[in-house]
Amino acid sequence: MEISKQIRLLIKKYSLYPSKRLGQNFLIDRSAIFYIRDAINPVSDRTYLEIGPGFLFITNSVAERAKKIIVIEKDKRFEPYYEDARHENIEIVMQDALKVDFSQWDVEELFGNIPFNISSPLIVKIAKTKTINRGVLLFQKEFAKRLLAGPGNKDYGSITIFTDFFFKKQFLKTFPPHFFYPMPLVSSTLINFVRRTDTQSVNENLLFCIVKGAFSKRRKTLFNALKKDFDGDILKNAIINAGLPIEIRGENLSLEEFIRVSKNLY
Ligand code: SAH
Repeated sequence: MEISKQIRLLIKKYSLYPSKRLGQNFLIDRSAIFYIRDAINPVSDRTYLEIGPGFLFITNSVAERAKKIIVIEKDKRFEPYYEDARHENIEIVMQDALKVDFSQWDVEELFGNIPFNISSPLIVKIAKTKTINRGVLLFQKEFAKRLLAGPGNKDYGSITIFTDFFFKKQFLKTFPPHFFYPMPLVSSTLINFVRRTDTQSVNENLLFCIVKGAFSKRRKTLFNALKKDFDGDILKNAIINAGLPIEIRGENLSLEEFIRVSKNLY
């Protein structure tokens, strides 16, 4: 039976009417599910974490090849379904993924077709959870563009640089809206994240404070955007000593350049 049909029947049986607030757009395309599984490339002696498993279609496909999958689902309405659909190597955690500590498990890799409204806080949380070394995540295409943009691009922003600092990011594939039920308005993009092993030792708080400041006033020069937070001369020297023109805009700086400026500021 087609997955879309199965999901429609399950929705009825368990009165699980898709919630917009919880970003419930279930993946109903079998080839996309296999594509995600192959991208994760599960191995039989490893445990994986999944955020937002819904009806477990991606989960089951990965679980066939993995030691175990720990899934975190916030919507309590799935509980009766999970009781009926018991699986040996799937551990269900009924909690909000933004509130659980991922480092409590011996897991390095995670995946998920995640709710779009938590994309940003979730990726920040994953970046800060140092036990997680890799993620295969499906995002709204527009959000994925922000993660993958380069300097000077309109989609380039603080979330790009924040994630660049922690991860190597790789575009994998874009799936059209009709691969999901209910059908969302936009396409989704799958990205592979691998934690950098060459992360520079910098004052991270200072770095991200500069990055945020630079993008809060996109149209201004970096100097003008930051001058209320720093002594003018010190800031000017930091920009010049980083090898940058004083009139440069923050949106044109690479991660490396932001790091150089921040290192010159302390
Ligand atoms: N992975 C499934 C479901 C995707 S829909 C599939 O591809 O078909 C997104 C899922 O994330 C839903 O099951 C939703 O209930 C769940 N979810 C939403 N917010 C969450 C949160 N904060 N923590 C954990 N799960 C969440």
